[in-house]
Amino acid sequence: MKLNRRTFMGTVAATTSALAAPMVMAAGHGRPKVVVVGGGAGGATAARYLAKDSKGEIDVTLIEPTRAYYTCFFSNLYIGGFRDINSIGHTYGTLASIGINVVHDWAVGVDRDAKTVSLAGGGTVPYDKLVLSPGIDFVEGAVEGWDLSAQNAMPHAYKAGSQSELLRAQIMAMPQGGTFAMVAPPNPYRCPPGPYERVSMVAHLLRETNPTAKIIVADPKEKFSKMGLFQEGWANNYEGMIDWIGSDFGGGNVSVDPGAMTVSIDGEVTKVDACNVIPAMKAGRIAHLAGVTDGNWAPVNAADMSTKADENIYVLGDSSQQGDMPKSGFSANSQAKVCANAIRGALTGSRVFPARFSNTCWSLIDTDNGVKVGATYEATDEKIAKVDGFISATGESAELRKATYEESVGWYDGITADMFG
Ligand code: FAD
Repeated sequence: MKLNRRTFMGTVAATTSALAAPMVMAAGHGRPKVVVVGGGAGGATAARYLAKDSKGEIDVTLIEPTRAYYTCFFSNLYIGGFRDINSIGHTYGTLASIGINVVHDWAVGVDRDAKTVSLAGGGTVPYDKLVLSPGIDFVEGAVEGWDLSAQNAMPHAYKAGSQSELLRAQIMAMPQGGTFAMVAPPNPYRCPPGPYERVSMVAHLLRETNPTAKIIVADPKEKFSKMGLFQEGWANNYEGMIDWIGSDFGGGNVSVDPGAMTVSIDGEVTKVDACNVIPAMKAGRIAHLAGVTDGNWAPVNAADMSTKADENIYVLGDSSQQGDMPKSGFSANSQAKVCANAIRGALTGSRVFPARFSNTCWSLIDTDNGVKVGATYEATDEKIAKVDGFISATGESAELRKATYEESVGWYDGITADMFG
């Protein structure tokens, strides 16, 4: 074998780790380096736990272009008028204060041989372990007539912030008795109950401001998360307002014309006043550029969230293809803690605990009317596998629904503190 510097360093690392397994030596320059791409639910949590628990033993860099991250979770409550936009915005100062090197830039490439991440602003960042949690991007051409250049006329509001503000403003500007349309996404996608909580929140807002308005939902699916709970809630609270058109009735046969503000569902063209297009999704672009995806998503090992393609690259949250967990902020946070524990073990020899995961998705149907679905999970050789679960029941008392909503408010405060410090 011809020895160059890289293979030589690799040989040293392999020999050392064979002697002192499971520790992996850093690439010859001080503390081991972990680079985290994406400062959302998964990435912020992973960076925070790595920095906090390693007590300075690991050099953690977080690459995130935005200075303020707006959570998608509770963005529907903003649209419904239950939250202020600032209440769902989070900055990175606290993460920087615990020693994380926060770089506000886009990661635009990964060199897996050199183990570096390149930045849009120029320069590269070296890593021993790389964590990718870039969320979702949209599948091009998924909804005929729609692409990203149409996102102002027909917002997706599936990455929160300005898109959420735009969608709410467009709903508020609808004429009395006007029509709101949603094009719902096919599985799998970020936050299974998200589109239907949004329908509920739009209905709530319209009932207050525009009670004769109509909502049309074109859906490529036959059924959806918490369907019975939502349909009960829509019938009880927004009677006659919401027309959900599932795949059995042509809901998947959709095209839009953002210029004319029309939606065609199974050949029937409707003029609309506001339109929320949520296209099919795939892993964030950087996961594809890193070469760790297979089709739309990045397959991972359940025990530590390392990718099947590269043991030094981990993918968290929505971008990962992991098994039974829904793509949610709670899931991303749970996966990030498992991943951070495993990486710390690999880099410093600290104790690694068996992987356990949990998730709950709360949804607000109307004022003080919260419902939830959740489960616990474990790592098997094959996937993250569901252990047991629970779901709210139809016909629950108003007291229980109020308590469920209050529980969700407490969850939001707790989990965002767990992510952003
Ligand atoms: P994100 O949180 O989206 O973070 C990705 C980050 O990566 C972003 O900050 C982005 O700027 C950054 N990034 C992307 N590409 C790059 C790059 N190349 N370089 C650097 N940075 C990059 N989940 C719940 O648990 N509960 C809920 O109630 C809930 N409600 C929701 C409601 C709606 C309407 C929506 C849309 C989602 C909801 N979710 C909810 C889902 C939740 O928001 C996502 O599942 C979660 O944010 C996924 O975390 P993530 O880390 O994978 O991605």
